[in-house]
Amino acid sequence: MTVSATPFAPWLGADPAVARLLAAEAERQSTTLQLIASENFTSPAVLAATGSVLTNKYAEGYPHRRYYGGNRVIDEVEDLARSRATALFGADHANVQPHAGANANLAVYQALLQPGDTVLAMRLDHGGHLTHGSPASITSKIWRFVSYGVTPASEDGTGEVIDFDQVADVAKREQPKLIVAGSTAYSRVIDPAPFREIAQAVGAMFMFDAAHPAGLIAGGAHPSPVGLADVVTFTTHKTLRGPRGGAILCRADLAKAIDGAVFPGLQGGPLEHVVAAKAVAFGEAGAPEFPRYAAAVVANARALAESMSAEGFRLVSGGTDNHMILVDLRPFDPELTGKEAQEVLDRAGITCNRNTIPDDPRSPFVTSGLRLGTAAETTAGMGPAEMARIASLIGRTLRARSDEEAVAGIRADVRDLCADFPPYPSLVGLDGSQGAAGAG
Ligand SMILES: *Cc1c(COP(=O)(O)O)cnc(C)c1O
Repeated sequence: MTVSATPFAPWLGADPAVARLLAAEAERQSTTLQLIASENFTSPAVLAATGSVLTNKYAEGYPHRRYYGGNRVIDEVEDLARSRATALFGADHANVQPHAGANANLAVYQALLQPGDTVLAMRLDHGGHLTHGSPASITSKIWRFVSYGVTPASEDGTGEVIDFDQVADVAKREQPKLIVAGSTAYSRVIDPAPFREIAQAVGAMFMFDAAHPAGLIAGGAHPSPVGLADVVTFTTHKTLRGPRGGAILCRADLAKAIDGAVFPGLQGGPLEHVVAAKAVAFGEAGAPEFPRYAAAVVANARALAESMSAEGFRLVSGGTDNHMILVDLRPFDPELTGKEAQEVLDRAGITCNRNTIPDDPRSPFVTSGLRLGTAAETTAGMGPAEMARIASLIGRTLRARSDEEAVAGIRADVRDLCADFPPYPSLVGLDGSQGAAGAG
């Protein structure tokens, strides 16, 4: 039995080399555990829109104000995506054109700041994103970034949460033009309210980067920053479960500046096939069952956190409120690095990523931590019982890491577990040439 990679797989017979690779990736995704916190399984409807004829159309500009002809249908597509996004999040305005979360952030900086302006964002080694002022990112070459971090780890497990005293102190001292909330490796709720208060106190604008929790916010599992932040950016492919891409929400008075910063400020023609897929995802996230998904993602992360603690791992901040946990490997095994753990887990069919933990003594390439997320396998139907099995598989793999035979045995157990939770049951075909949801 094989799995076809897209609803349009039958057409790939014309290119066997690419068809083989897509089938191989579909096989990988359905026979190994997907625990990367920024990944998910989109619906077949999102896949279909992404693989549609809309990829053929140039649509520079915005609905009803395009630079090319023939955009009557495309305008409806983008209007639908925008109105679904504003309805879903209760925002005044949405820009659905950013090709990625990074582009959304760059566009906001360009809309709100002058080169050289100061931005206050989360320290990268405490969970901030590259676009929050990494020395390797163009953001740090154009704007001046200062940072806040998390509180120190404490014996009672209450530390390693955003240090709002520090946010306030640095804001007062540095007088940033913009304060950025949001993180790529933080397992707690990010409360927008104190950020908003601090921003108001120092006269700064406030951007909330909801790349990770967008789906949890849409599903009501996390507080919404809309109405508190001046601008909200997010990705559509993490907990929101849509196509790979970005989007921006803002107040009506900022709409013109934001739109101009995305196009022509940063990008050329929009990817309207992806915009259509974003519309599908916004529709799915607004459906009555999505809050149940968001709640299940968090419940699964809590279950995974408990079982990982029972296996002897320390969790940064002691646990989780969202879809991810950050594991400190050192108490489990002081010799084990994040890099080595990621590699051996990969061989066991457990896909995750190494991650720095706050004040990590090891380099960002090696690290002392692992980041695990539950958004994808929750979509595939796993629940708390499977989370306990996953923690046990991770513990077994890392304890047996120099025993290739044991790791191969765990790989077989992982394959068995995944067989009960196929991410695309409707795309399973007998020969890989056709799925039940296929258009052929
Ligand atoms: C993932 C992420 C981004 C960037 O998203 P891309 O689509 O990879 O460009 C931006 N900010 C945060 C906090 C993220 O986690």
